Amino acid sequence: MVFLRKRKEREIRTVRIMIRMYCKAKHHPDGYLCDSCAEVLSYATMKYHHCMFGEDKPVCTVCPVHCYNPAMRERIRAIMRFSGPRMVLHHPLMAIDHLLLQRWSKKNMPLFLERVKGKKKRNGNLKSA
Ligand SMILES: [Zn+2]
Repeated sequence: MVFLRKRKEREIRTVRIMIRMYCKAKHHPDGYLCDSCAEVLSYATMKYHHCMFGEDKPVCTVCPVHCYNPAMRERIRAIMRFSGPRMVLHHPLMAIDHLLLQRWSKKNMPLFLERVKGKKKRNGNLKSA
């Protein structure tokens, strides 16, 4: 069940599907990722694994830390703009799940901001989704 897996894994999985969706429509209809989209995916995956918040990170869309470089940020944004609305149609459960993650992230924002200030990598005191 999708809701039981860890937040970070859930987010990475959603992003992977969104990049595939975008590439399939814009570049490679046969379903494999083009070099450019593969680059965005590996960049995003690398950022997830190095996230200062660890496993219980806020979703990237509302994160107070801007860890993407500006060019990558633009590319991933274009992908999200395209695939976001399509997720609701094709993967409604994942779309809802992402909204829940977003709500959870906003609810815990004061704690995330506190951690940014103190540069702490602690996962305590988080309210559940
Ligand atoms: Zn592509």
